[in-house]
Order: sequence, then structure tokens, then C-alpha cells
Amino acid sequence: MRKLAAGNWKMNGTSATLAELEALSRAHPDPGVDVLVCLPATLIHPARTLLDNAPVALGGQDCHAAASGAHTGDIAAAQLADAGASAVILGHSERREDHGETSDRVRQKAIAAHQAGLIAVICLGETLAQREAGETLAIIGAQLSASLPDTCTAANTVVAYEPVWAIGTGKIPTKAQIADVHSFVREGLIAELGAQEAAGLRLLYGGSVKPANAAEIFGIENVDGALVGGASLTAAEFSPIIRALEASVHPA
Ligand code: PEP
Repeated sequence: MRKLAAGNWKMNGTSATLAELEALSRAHPDPGVDVLVCLPATLIHPARTLLDNAPVALGGQDCHAAASGAHTGDIAAAQLADAGASAVILGHSERREDHGETSDRVRQKAIAAHQAGLIAVICLGETLAQREAGETLAIIGAQLSASLPDTCTAANTVVAYEPVWAIGTGKIPTKAQIADVHSFVREGLIAELGAQEAAGLRLLYGGSVKPANAAEIFGIENVDGALVGGASLTAAEFSPIIRALEASVHPA
């Protein structure tokens, strides 16, 4: 399996910020891992044009479950693909919280993403209150089984474990906590998809990944890459994270 360094720009960036993507692609002309940057929808097409055939994949951050229709302000998976996206983040905790998205809704969106030929990057994560109540694995298990549709394969789906309390806070779970959740998710995927598909499906860790902690996180079993928010906004910060992931594949 090829490891994946994925960035999430959230609601940040304008056309001027695309210079960061250009710098990133110049720094990684032949990356040893997959590189994906999930942009605000307005930037996907200009970014694809700017990057031309450079090996930086682009993604959206949400899509509607319907293929088209009367849904003012929403975006369809096929529209993201048409703009140049090859992936879409679904079920990010900010969407679950700000827009009341349920796992069932996330599953419907993932089906739409798959139908449009997009990779669905499906996010799962517990809140601090849930972790402190000892509910982490129950929450992750419930989100996993309800959010992943039957259309999931190793090629068209990525799962990102993002503890809500670690996103944008600088707080990071311990290595053992990450390892526990990732091995639990891998077991869940084996039950849902069978051993072969589950072994090839990438599990990302997300939540305050920075250049300083990336190598340690990438050394944890069942961590196949990262979903990076704040540190993906500049080439100066995202590039060392990509290099740390490359180094985890081919240690010096
Ligand atoms: C995210 O938004 O998916 C994320 C992990 O953010 P950050 O890296 O800023 O914590």
C-alpha cells in the first residue's frame, strides 16, 4: 500500500495562497508517498490548472449525497471531480458538529463520492468527554460501521482517525492510544470488508500533526499516513511531514 499525506485547508486560502501548493509540488516532484491536498471548492480548478500534471492530488472537503438538484449552496461529488478533485473528505468532526452530520448521512455521501469516482476520506473521532468516559472504542466502532457504505474498497476509501480534542489544539494522544484505535479500526475493517481489502485500506491519523511529531506518529503500527490541518497550509510545514512519511517507508 502507498502511504498518504493528506492536507485539509478547511475554510482557508484564496487564489494568492496557491503559491504554497506550487512550492509544495516543486519540493516533491516525485514523492515516495501519495500527496493529497483538500482545498476549498473554489480553489480546486485553478489549483489543478496551476499544478498541471504534478503528482499532488486535490480533494474537496464535503459533498452532497445527491448527484444534482435543488440544494442551494451544496456541491455534488461529480462537480468536485469535474473541477479536478480525485478525493473528498467526509464526516470531518467540524462538519458533524457545525452541520449536524450523522454517520448515516456520511455513508450516503460516501456512496455519492464513489459513484463519481472519488476517494472518500471518511473521518471518525471521539470527543474529550467520550474519551474520559471510556467510550472511545464504542464511539469509533459505531461511527465506522455506520459511516462506511458497502461500496468501500481499499482503492476508493481512506479512514482518518481524528480525535476531536486533538484537532487544532496541539494536544496529541499517546502512541499507545493511537495504536489502540488504529488496530481496533483495522479489525473492524477486516470484519466489514474481509482481510485483503482491509489490509490495503489506508488508515490516517489526524489531529495536531506537525513536523516535530510526524516521524513518531508514522512509526506507530497501522498508521498509514496523516490528515493534516493547520500544518498543511504552507509548503514549509507540510513538506517536512511528507518527508517524514517517506522516511517511514524507506528508513535511512
Ligand atoms: C484536521 O482538520 O483534519 C486536522 C487534523 O487539523 P489540525 O492538523 O490543525 O489539528
